[in-house]
Amino acid sequence: LAVAVTACGANTSGGGSTSGTNTSSGSGGGAKVGVILPETATSARWEGFDKPLLEKALKAEGLDPDIQNAQGDVQKFSTLADGMINSGVRVLIIATPNSEVGASVAKKAENQGIQVIDYDRLNLGGSSKYYVSFDNVKVGELQGQGLVEGLAKLAPGKKPAEVVEIEGAPTDNNATLFTQGQKKVLQPKYDSGEFKLVQSQPIEGWDNQKGGNTFEQILTGNSQKVDGVVAANDGLAGAVITVLKKFGLNGKVPVTGQDATPEGLQAVLRGDQYMTVFKPIAEEAQAAAKLAAALAKNDTAAADALATGTTEDAKGNRQVKSVLLTAQLITKDKVKVVVDAGFVKASEICVAD
Ligand code: BGC
Repeated sequence: LAVAVTACGANTSGGGSTSGTNTSSGSGGGAKVGVILPETATSARWEGFDKPLLEKALKAEGLDPDIQNAQGDVQKFSTLADGMINSGVRVLIIATPNSEVGASVAKKAENQGIQVIDYDRLNLGGSSKYYVSFDNVKVGELQGQGLVEGLAKLAPGKKPAEVVEIEGAPTDNNATLFTQGQKKVLQPKYDSGEFKLVQSQPIEGWDNQKGGNTFEQILTGNSQKVDGVVAANDGLAGAVITVLKKFGLNGKVPVTGQDATPEGLQAVLRGDQYMTVFKPIAEEAQAAAKLAAALAKNDTAAADALATGTTEDAKGNRQVKSVLLTAQLITKDKVKVVVDAGFVKASEICVAD
């Protein structure tokens, strides 16, 4: 705790929130690149981190970015994509509310000779040739590990430890992968009777409000008993913590999270949230920008040299060339890692002791 508290008010430079000065040093030749982000409210990451970091990275590659957000509206996503296609973008970078709209946008764009990069979320059954993200099964594993560790600390000897899972949107392939990763760690514990799964509930649209309401119903339906909560990201974790507070249970029940948002990190420092997952979005943005620069020049050899991984499309019977980055588990004692990486400023996350 001391780390962030003592740094309160200090003006160390952060990553996501600074727009920075951009020198167009890259070789992109000013080609237009369209970026469409999926939502504003599901996670602070999209507007707070991805947007400024993509803007900076694309400009650094000498590209001309147009970055929009569909605000969870599939129709709006299509309209924004049409506008970008008509405005002559060379590359589209898309993070979509669901795979269907992503697949249809990719097809339309590719028919006009525009290259498409799936950003963060893979569009199942789609046709884009490149994908930039994190190892999302691993992200889920980190959440599972965090919960196991948190339960050992906060509910030692409790058998079975009763667990509720508040998962992400069923339309987001990442949510499926996070759950898969969590299960790798938690299923053996459920099977052995060490833990008991009270209920696992996907939350449509990653809607934080819905997540909180759903959790409250599950909790009251279980005689207000819960020992640990898997929340798929910091937004859902925040909603869960609000409910736990109402029942005087916050800080006594480990809650997982993801994204290392300022709010999530504060909850971790306060002890209300046990962990979050730090995904260095600057690296994700830079990888997408480098790929876009290669593709804007139709240099597929250079693009392929960057996207050395492959990801299987569970619905499309295809392998997608990928850049898959590494995420980190952040508990209270590791919050400094996120500050040192320049992702957030200490002054943004400091909490009263
Ligand atoms: C992203 C997460 C984010 C979630 C909700 C997922 O696809 O990978 O970082 O928290 O969407 O926006």
